[in-house]
Amino acid sequence: MADAKPGRNCPRCPRLVAFRKTWRAREPAWFNAPVPSFGPVDARLLIVGLAPGLQGANRTGRPFTGDYAGDLLYETLKEFGFARGRYEERADDSLELIDCRITNAVRCVPPENKPTGEEIANCRPFLTATIAEMPRLKAIVALGRIAHDSVLTALGVPRSHMVFGHGCRETVGAFTVFDSYHCSRYNTNTGRLTPDMFRAVFTQVRQHLLDGGIPARGEPPTSAAQSSGIIPGRRPALRNKT
Ligand code: URA
Repeated sequence: MADAKPGRNCPRCPRLVAFRKTWRAREPAWFNAPVPSFGPVDARLLIVGLAPGLQGANRTGRPFTGDYAGDLLYETLKEFGFARGRYEERADDSLELIDCRITNAVRCVPPENKPTGEEIANCRPFLTATIAEMPRLKAIVALGRIAHDSVLTALGVPRSHMVFGHGCRETVGAFTVFDSYHCSRYNTNTGRLTPDMFRAVFTQVRQHLLDGGIPARGEPPTSAAQSSGIIPGRRPALRNKT
C-alpha cells in the first residue's frame, strides 16, 4: 500500500506537476506541494475535502487554511468540540484538532479547483493509506460528491452502496460515512449550504461518536472491500473495542 503522504515532488499527475512548477516559480514563499493531512492520526473522525485551494491550502500548507471554505469549517469544528485554539488562516496559528483529522481527495492544487478523474484516481492510494493508518477511525465526513465517491472507492465498495446527498449517512464496513455539501464559497454564497445545514451534519457525527461510533447493521461489505484491507476482516480487534 502507498504511503499516506505523497512526497513534495510527487510525479503522479503531469498536469498538477506543471501547475505546481508554475506556482513555485511565481510564488516561491508559498507551500506549493501536496498538502498533508492535518490532525491526530488516532482521531475517530476523518473529514475529506476536495483539493487545496490555490491561495489557501496550497499557499499555507494546511488543509482549508486561508481558504474561504476554512472559515465555516473551522468555526463549526470548534463549536462541536473537534477543534480548539484560534484559527488565524495560517499553519502556525494555535488551532488544534481534537479527535478529528482533515485530508483531501486530491493533495495537490488543481487548476480552477477542478481535478480530473484520472488525478482523483492517481491520488486515491494516499486516501486509502490515510484511512488505513487511523487505528480508531469511526466516522468519515465527505465534503461534496467527489470526496464522497473517492471515499467509497477507497473503502472498496461500489458507488451504488451510498448515493451522495447532504445529510445522508451510511455504514461502510467498520465506518459510518456522513455526506455534506462542500463548504465552498460558491455553495455558501448561493445558499446551497447554510451554516445550519453544515451544523446538522456535525450534530449527527457528534451524536454518533457519543454513542460509541458503532456502525449500524447493514449490508455486508463486498469482497473488494474486504480485500482492500481497510474494512472488517483485517481489524477485528478494533471492532470489538467499541
Ligand atoms: N481547501 C482544502 O484544503 N480543501 C478543499 O476541499 C477546499 C479548500
